[in-house]
Amino acid sequence: MNPFSYSRPDSVAAAIELFGPQSRYIAGGTNLLDLMKENVLKPAHLIDITRLPLQDVSETAQGGLRIGALVSNSELAWHPLVRERYPLLSEAILAGASPQLRNKATTGGNLLQRTRCHYFYDSNVPCNKREPGTGCPARSGLNRMHAILGHSEQCIAVHPSDMCVALAALQAEVIVRGADGERGIAFADFHRLPGNAPARDNTLQDGELIVAVELKPDPHAAHSRYLKTRDRASYAFALVSVAAALALDGACIQSARIALGGVAHKPWRLAEAEQQLLGRPPQASVFGDAADALLRGAKGFEHNQFKIELARRAIIAALTDAARGTRA
Ligand code: SF4
Repeated sequence: MNPFSYSRPDSVAAAIELFGPQSRYIAGGTNLLDLMKENVLKPAHLIDITRLPLQDVSETAQGGLRIGALVSNSELAWHPLVRERYPLLSEAILAGASPQLRNKATTGGNLLQRTRCHYFYDSNVPCNKREPGTGCPARSGLNRMHAILGHSEQCIAVHPSDMCVALAALQAEVIVRGADGERGIAFADFHRLPGNAPARDNTLQDGELIVAVELKPDPHAAHSRYLKTRDRASYAFALVSVAAALALDGACIQSARIALGGVAHKPWRLAEAEQQLLGRPPQASVFGDAADALLRGAKGFEHNQFKIELARRAIIAALTDAARGTRA
């Protein structure tokens, strides 16, 4: 490991003030410490933000929730208001990692975790995300876990989070603060596709700190489902995951949200696919039309072609389950 300096400020303003070249904020450290041990990241200065007052879940004036960036994944998943109003989020969080990791990992950190592409973690091989311009060995190598949508010549990695897939479906807003003040970023605009700059995962400016995630009141709580397919029953990243949420009006779908995980560099949503469902009955053939729209243009590689059909079936299954009603 490389030497680094360390500070532990008591206020958000002080943390932002301390941020300089080669600095990193650290909270739970469940991903950052791994990256440092593997020499993927070599920060010169760590700013420990665990003492900042960002630990609360509170109701907003609009009837939604404001989730402090330091709320742990466990606290959030089991919070009574989340269980009641946003069961999709609770279910997605509990599908990820292990209880020990969820106790340590934070809301803000979950958004910032890096891809689990094995080439990215091996500093002995090229990787455009780790060292721009060196190449992408995953394209012709071990790519079973990689993207089928939104990938580029430069990078075919996927975002590893489960929580973020639910936050995408819930149209969350990420609240960030930097030297120029506070701003909100729509969740759909927070993570990036790789394009020609795969080293950048998100649209944060240098030194900006996530302070909260906000949720609006959501009409889908009675009909939502997070479905995760993976190689083993726990502690595994998604091959494909689906956050599905419906609002039903009698026998018809009034509103729909579908987000996919494990298939792209960011949670994957498409308004056109959701619109396919509106005013139609909640049945498999209708869900199949939405799946086809959502997966239009999907392209796999040597070892992950199976993900396209897996995703189609998972979308139909998740929507079918959501239509039946959210599990208590
Ligand atoms: Fe690196 Fe992305 Fe290629 Fe993986 S997929 S080797 S992270 S450039």
